[in-house]
Amino acid sequence: MDFAETAEQAMLREAVGKIAARYGHDYFHAKVESGGHSTELWQEVGSAGFIGVSIPEQYGGGGMGIGELAVVAEELAAHGCPLMLLMVSPAVCGTILARFGTPEQRGRWLPGLAAGERKMAFAITEPDAGSNSHRLATVATRDGDAWRIRGAKHFISGVDEADAVLVVARTGDPAGGRGRLSLFIVDTDAPGLERTVIPMEIAAPEKQFLLFFDDVAVPPEGLLGAEGDGLRQVFQGLNPERIIGAAGANGIARYALAKAAGYAAQRRVWGGPIGAHQGISHPLASAKIEVELARLATQKAAWAHDQGRPDAGEAANMAKYAAAEAALHAVDAAIQAHGGNGFATEYGLADLWGMTRVLRTAPVSREMILNFVAEHSLGLPRSY
Ligand SMILES: Cc1cc2nc3c(=O)[nH]c(=O)nc-3n(C[C@H](O)[C@H](O)[C@H](O)COP(=O)(O)OP(=O)(O)OC[C@H]3O[C@@H](n4cnc5c(N)ncnc54)[C@H](O)[C@@H]3O)c2cc1C
Repeated sequence: MDFAETAEQAMLREAVGKIAARYGHDYFHAKVESGGHSTELWQEVGSAGFIGVSIPEQYGGGGMGIGELAVVAEELAAHGCPLMLLMVSPAVCGTILARFGTPEQRGRWLPGLAAGERKMAFAITEPDAGSNSHRLATVATRDGDAWRIRGAKHFISGVDEADAVLVVARTGDPAGGRGRLSLFIVDTDAPGLERTVIPMEIAAPEKQFLLFFDDVAVPPEGLLGAEGDGLRQVFQGLNPERIIGAAGANGIARYALAKAAGYAAQRRVWGGPIGAHQGISHPLASAKIEVELARLATQKAAWAHDQGRPDAGEAANMAKYAAAEAALHAVDAAIQAHGGNGFATEYGLADLWGMTRVLRTAPVSREMILNFVAEHSLGLPRSY
């Protein structure tokens, strides 16, 4: 067993860190304030080959794994730039396309996604189905060789930045059984696809959308993978999404702890630095331990996914849980250590609270992870 990163991963971390340091949290915050997108950063990281690090080499990617994409996500967040769409475009859509796409679909989408020139959003969540994907009501029906989609999705990130949306829809209802799900690539400007911004209390450049599909026509080549096999296919993308979410949370935690340690070492109120008070240093130290444990869990989950191990789902759930909780404790302790300055825009901390808090709820909620662990890891009866 070896806990050290490979030389390639260490070089990747350094290279991403160098780019991210030139942007920093002030750039991120300015984008939020102006309602803009983090396009320049995304494109620069993409053209350096880092957005596509986990996409196969033959499609212009780095041919590495989710472990390397996790390094990219963590390092960007550790410099104050947590990019939400890393969870979606390369992690969910890139992974599913590379595994289940036709050669035509891979050739059409993967090079642009890898280079950071194109983005794909991902739509599974529905207003009425909630966490229960078996209740998805968005339906795709056959129209000759093609398809027509009707339904609604909500909280879909980055649709205004994306060229297409990977949509999970129902394509059959076997009697007495669970509905059959299929995946479709739908252009964001397809006639009949309407989008509305959902106002959110999160300081992020990415916007969230309510989508309506009013008989949206999808050509035959829009079906991704086998019809009716969507649930199995989508799970190949949900584990990377959770791992990249965990990596982002770990990066935010590193950012907050570094700021807090720097501040507590120099801020003097009673003579010595406030970091000499255990009331300040212990919450930061315990958050540091939790974050290092979460980083180990994230590395393990990425390894399990990249090895194709059957326990990758359990590991990805546990990593996302651990990382979200650790990041919340880290950001909270960092704000507390800053006193009133913790809330001042200049210190660049409190604005990350919303994004950090979201990671307890999305891309999968803490409760659904606990349900999974209770049932699958502990063998307890399912409660729902
Ligand atoms: C900022 C943001 C970005 C997002 N981006 C995307 C995206 O790009 N694409 C996408 O498809 N979705 C996206 N989502 C949706 C997100 O994945 C869901 O919000 C999340 O999975 C929770 O589902 P829900 O909102 O339907 O909550 P619900 O399922 O309604 O759950 C509400 C509460 O009940 C709890 N609960 C539900 N069932 C159980 C149970 N059986 N046992 C115990 N507790 C339970 C949940 O944990 C939660 O706390 C995003 C959400 C946010 C906030």
